[in-house]
Amino acid sequence: EINDQKFVYDFTEGNRDLKDLLGGKGANLAEMTNLGLPVPPGFTITTEACKVYLESGSEPVALRDEVSAHLDALERQMGKKLGQADDPLLVSVRSGAKFSMPGMMDTVLNIGLSDESVAGLARQADNERFAWDSYRRLIQMFGKTVLGVDGELFEEALDEAKAAKKVASDTDLDAADLKKVVKHFKKIVKAQTGRDFPQDAREQMDLAIEAVFNSWNTDRAKLYRRQERIPGDLGTAVNVCSMVFGNLGPDSGTGVAFTRDPASGHAGVYGDYLQNAQGEDVVAGIRNTVPLADLESIDKKSYDQLMHIMETLETHYKDLCDIEFTIERGQLWMLQTRVGKRTAGAAFRIATQLVDQGLIDEAEALQRVTGAQLAQLMFPKFDENAKVEQIGRGIAASPGAAVGKAVFDSYTAVKWSRSGEKVILIRRETNPDDLDGMIAAEGILTSRGGKTSHAAVVARGMGKTCVCGAEELEVDTKRRRMTTADGQVVEEGDVVSIDGSTGKVYLGEVPVVPSPVVEYFEGRMHAGADDADELVAAVHRVMAYADRVRRLRVRANADNAEDALRARRFGAQGIGLCRTEHMFLGERRQYVERLILADTDAEREESLKALLPLQKQDFIELFEAMDGLPVTVRLLDPPLHEFLPDITELSVRVALAESRKEPHENDLRLLQAVHRLHEQNPMLGLRGVRLGLVIPGLFTMQVRAIAEAAAQRVDAKGDPRVEIMIPLVGTVQELEIVREEAEQVIAEVQAQTGVELKLALGTMIELPRAAVTAGQIAEAAEFFSFGTNDLTQTVWGFSRDDVEASFFTAYLEKGIFGVSPFETIDKDGVGALVRSAVQAGRATRPDIKLGVCGEHGGDPESVHFFHEVGLDYVSCSPFRIPVARLEAGRAAA
Ligand code: PEP
Ligand code: MG
Repeated sequence: EINDQKFVYDFTEGNRDLKDLLGGKGANLAEMTNLGLPVPPGFTITTEACKVYLESGSEPVALRDEVSAHLDALERQMGKKLGQADDPLLVSVRSGAKFSMPGMMDTVLNIGLSDESVAGLARQADNERFAWDSYRRLIQMFGKTVLGVDGELFEEALDEAKAAKKVASDTDLDAADLKKVVKHFKKIVKAQTGRDFPQDAREQMDLAIEAVFNSWNTDRAKLYRRQERIPGDLGTAVNVCSMVFGNLGPDSGTGVAFTRDPASGHAGVYGDYLQNAQGEDVVAGIRNTVPLADLESIDKKSYDQLMHIMETLETHYKDLCDIEFTIERGQLWMLQTRVGKRTAGAAFRIATQLVDQGLIDEAEALQRVTGAQLAQLMFPKFDENAKVEQIGRGIAASPGAAVGKAVFDSYTAVKWSRSGEKVILIRRETNPDDLDGMIAAEGILTSRGGKTSHAAVVARGMGKTCVCGAEELEVDTKRRRMTTADGQVVEEGDVVSIDGSTGKVYLGEVPVVPSPVVEYFEGRMHAGADDADELVAAVHRVMAYADRVRRLRVRANADNAEDALRARRFGAQGIGLCRTEHMFLGERRQYVERLILADTDAEREESLKALLPLQKQDFIELFEAMDGLPVTVRLLDPPLHEFLPDITELSVRVALAESRKEPHENDLRLLQAVHRLHEQNPMLGLRGVRLGLVIPGLFTMQVRAIAEAAAQRVDAKGDPRVEIMIPLVGTVQELEIVREEAEQVIAEVQAQTGVELKLALGTMIELPRAAVTAGQIAEAAEFFSFGTNDLTQTVWGFSRDDVEASFFTAYLEKGIFGVSPFETIDKDGVGALVRSAVQAGRATRPDIKLGVCGEHGGDPESVHFFHEVGLDYVSCSPFRIPVARLEAGRAAA
């Protein structure tokens, strides 16, 4: 059925919604054509044709005839034939996928020139030099991108010609020189490919089209797609466009323009213009461009027309557009437009500016920004005004600004950081052995590897700044030094600064400034204040749009009053997870140790009694900080041996004492207990609700502390809204037992204090069995909170502590998943369980409260999923709350 398809669209036939079929460039050329803008006529070969070619190895049968028909029409419209000897029609052939891809073949210009037609062009243009220069460019571009000749060979030949004439610039070569260059170029083609440069114009065009198809699958293109998560089967379109020339003299030129400043979003005239030049001259930087504003004095008519077109485009696309244009002897032509890339800050500014202009509404404004952009704005940045010495640039793998002393191995990183030094770990590439060093370092710099390299994946997971693949830096780990491209040596201990948002690497300490957006969220800067910049004002407005429309509530994972207060400032509407194990660290560990080692009930009760007031005080502070908002307190979760000394260390200590005949009863007793509690798979062992069932009095002590704290808050005229959460439940029976005990304690506290308490009791859904039996579990649970960290671990059978550092890099590289399932929810697997548990829970208990408190609660894509499955709230770390609010708004808008 593929043969029935239409493979070629004239620019007048397409439109901007056909990006899948015509690619971004083709769809927008069609859109501009239909807007009546001056686009040189042409046509687009569809991505479908490319797909057929890539699948079958040959072009679809119908393609050649369709191209012929469109070429005929083009020739009739232009009044000349492709490659016609006395007056040739010339075309450009350009690739153009749905997403712009720098890894692909871009453009071949001047197709249609030959030994014969070059003379015709010279006569028509009345400019012999121009014609030969155009021919020279064709052989060079065609030779390189279509025939695969090493581009250096052409560059060398051109340099030779310049050297022979003792001139520095291409423009100093005259027609006679360029004729010689062409001859030389043709010789190169013959020598390298064994065939002559094709003289037949149609053959040139067909070969160029095929080369564009093939460019979809070059290694560079594949690598780029993998890194940017662009599907591998989209194919590229091919645009065939009649040539216009910006290099016909001073009344010609070429330029780029933005409809507004892509950095600030401000309206105005932004762009560059180069007189008497073709597109690639601008890129090559052969001559200096002038600001677009200067075009007004160079060619007022074209300038005015361009300004008018820019306004038309912005009103039409309702967004910032970028444009490529050419002026041929005073006639303006539009060669390309697209919705322009912009910085994260400009995205927010532009969205609100467009609302003010009445071009878009608030809902649309929310679609113009992303949580990832907001997150980017929340990282501290290097001071833009600081003097810097850049020594390299790599891939911006994990954002942030990090400064520290250069170290070249993990051991040193750990050692130095323990003594209080800030370090940057520099490696050629990292592997799982470097994990300790990566944790210890402020940031990670590698000279090899891309966005899915070990360093990049692990650093992103840890939220650590990382620049990877800074290839011009020569890392010598043996000699503990790194050499820059110009031979500068960075020794161990030298201070370096790395920018994970730009990939830039600097020597020395670059000062870091806090993010104004964080200052705003923290309440240290007010959106309406005079000193607040436009960015903060824009973020403020967009957040208000999001808060108005979102259905999901946003809570925080916070374990102490300080975090809770910050979360509240950031807009948290409660605490979705207070991990009480974090309250047992430090000084208090000894009480827990005693609790675990208790031989008698009396001993146990004593240690519980010591813990109770400490816990109670924690909760009083927390409930006060969150007064009036829900606080979910989770009873103790992690394996008990986490509270005991390391088994190896302790064994050594005991053995030493034994050999020295020193007293060691306590240590021995401890060692026996540690042995007794040691588990091969602690994550699947004695943790969560199992602890509560095995250690008498542990959970009831925690419940009592919570209840007494709540009662005290009520007495103090507070409004505590507490939810008690039981972790790692797999069956309703576990929950029922704990629930009964808890209710009894709560009743006792009510009786003692005379305060009526409304404490909700619920559970986490973080085991597959819990998800599958959610309907039963809901009988005993007033709320569910999905623990998607453990749920991902148990559904996939992936150890959450190990896999990201071991085989995930290989999985990402092989495309098994595009992103770690611990980062973005696996919708088909883990997500399907969440979805069915939501339904089952609501079927049993229609008013059940449903939330998520795994890391996914702050991940943009996952937030959209949780909105869609109908959760009531997401809970995430305080710092990610603004991102979750924004994405919840985007999901609902
Ligand atoms: C979870 O498992 O998703 C969860 C929130 O609990 P924790 O990360 O503490 O195991
Ligand atoms: Mg868990």
